[in-house]
Amino acid sequence: MDIRDATFALIDVGRFLFARGWVPATSGNLSARLDDGTVLVTVSGVHKGELTPEGLMRIDADGVPLMPGRRPSAETPLHLMIYRRFAEAGVVLHTHSPRATVLSMGGYDLTFEGFEMLKAMSTIESHERRLRLPVFPNDQNTARLADRVAVHAGVTHGFMIAGHGLYTWGTTMADARRHLEAIEFLLECEQLRRSTGPSS
Ligand SMILES: [Zn+2]
Repeated sequence: MDIRDATFALIDVGRFLFARGWVPATSGNLSARLDDGTVLVTVSGVHKGELTPEGLMRIDADGVPLMPGRRPSAETPLHLMIYRRFAEAGVVLHTHSPRATVLSMGGYDLTFEGFEMLKAMSTIESHERRLRLPVFPNDQNTARLADRVAVHAGVTHGFMIAGHGLYTWGTTMADARRHLEAIEFLLECEQLRRSTGPSS
């Protein structure tokens, strides 16, 4: 993506995520990797439903700001870790939906199996495959948190931070958004299963 397309795509997805209730009260952060390897990321503290080009800034692959006067999201180290670890990742979306926040507080990873919706995830071609969402303890030191996620072998399509939210990504904005919608659907199913399904 060039900076123009990435700016448009991030503003657009911010409105969508806010409308769904997944980035309330300036929470969440969004980024896209540009063609030259730099990253366009949301500025710290901006409202994702009301993003403007001024609410975005470029940083290099090590997180060095390339736009003086703007401060990138405090969770930028997690975005950069994902781009380093997954060469195909072009967009990273981090949301604070109520479901991801609450379901991440159980003290264990979530695993989804047998759902037709799993086919929405890139590289999962059948509902017979499984998706694991590892949960990491929250940490205000986001560089330390990124280091912890970076070495976890179970991270494939996304992960959650306990009491905090969800990270997922994709090659394109369409991929990342589809993954996020699919994971939110699976989280909703998990919530429904717990409230109405057989107790276990
Ligand atoms: Zn967050």
